[in-house]
Amino acid sequence: MIHKVLPVGMLQCNCSVFGDEESREAIIIDPGAEIEKITEILDRHQLKVKAIIVTHGHIDHVAGAAKLRALTGAPVYMNERDLEQLDLLAVQAAWLGVSTPERTQVDVSAKEGTLLQLGPAEFHVLETPGHTQGSISLWIPQETKLIAGDTLFRDSIGRTDLPGGNPRQILSSIKAKLFDLPGEAAVIPGHGPATTIEREKQQNPFLRNL
Ligand SMILES: [Zn+2]
Repeated sequence: MIHKVLPVGMLQCNCSVFGDEESREAIIIDPGAEIEKITEILDRHQLKVKAIIVTHGHIDHVAGAAKLRALTGAPVYMNERDLEQLDLLAVQAAWLGVSTPERTQVDVSAKEGTLLQLGPAEFHVLETPGHTQGSISLWIPQETKLIAGDTLFRDSIGRTDLPGGNPRQILSSIKAKLFDLPGEAAVIPGHGPATTIEREKQQNPFLRNL
């Protein structure tokens, strides 16, 4: 499996490009910006995008989705509870002092149990609300990898002071869904360096009392 993590945009959102060498199909997660960096990898590895997944509706994760959808024809998956975040894109853009991006169409609501297949790998949608109400994570058991969006970071957790945030809910999402995964599972957060479930169980100062 090809897996490239590209920090994109002003807030350096970690965009993941997964590609299956057999079928030459790809899944893109969180195309926040700099779509040309993504298409360059797709071209280099001769990959065709089969799905675009957005972990939540914040501008730094979703801003490039409309453009990538138009370029590739691939469907966009996002949890329907974050459609309210897309209604706030102009507000989010104003906070950052950037222009408002095109609002993406959401083709499929990514819900608990939604399953996408890429070659031999399954991408399981886990609903992990708290950072936003529609925040999801992706668990890929064949790769022992978690794409955590802005729910869990190395040594930190997602902020809960923005619209739709809930501090108790993010902790229970981490405890019930993410800390149930194998300790050796690699975690690719929405921003910053990778980690593992075990490391965050042991060392994350926000999760001491979980
Ligand atoms: Zn966010």
